[in-house]
Amino acid sequence: MAEVVTVCVNPQCGERTTWFSQPNFHGTKIAAGKFLLSYGIILAGTSATKVFRALKHMGMTCISLTTFFKYQREKLIPSIYLHWKKYQAELLDELKTKEELRNEVGSSPAMEYAGFCRSMEYLLSLVAVKTFVSDRHSSITKHMREKLSDIIHYFDIWHIKKKVTKVLTKIVDVKQLQSG
Ligand SMILES: [Zn+2]
Repeated sequence: MAEVVTVCVNPQCGERTTWFSQPNFHGTKIAAGKFLLSYGIILAGTSATKVFRALKHMGMTCISLTTFFKYQREKLIPSIYLHWKKYQAELLDELKTKEELRNEVGSSPAMEYAGFCRSMEYLLSLVAVKTFVSDRHSSITKHMREKLSDIIHYFDIWHIKKKVTKVLTKIVDVKQLQSG
């Protein structure tokens, strides 16, 4: 870090001012520029030696490798590790909630139906649903026919197309086998 001390030339004043090329992090003695350079290098996954050499070619002074490794060891790696642990715990919690829904109802198709019931109930509390499009899930079809008959229920053409393609491919394969 560069430090510039200026003294007023007026003999009656003589005031001294000190200027620093970078601020410290609030409440610490860590220079923000030095630390953020180390942080940037580690996140980019690049080589500190090469970055420092590049800066040297530009005539810029910067931190030493020793300082870089000190920040890496004492501050950066522990922070990244703690952040990752927190992120991982949140992900696991989220997955547990999903797992609970499945356990509550037993199987994957039952979960789809339970999810549909909850979402539909939520939607109906907010808006008037006139038309509903889904795949040909049998419980959902039955529910729409029996309990929500005032809503027009369409099947998603993509799912039907997928099924038709599957059936046709099967027929063609059988014929080919027979003729061959
Ligand atoms: Zn002055």
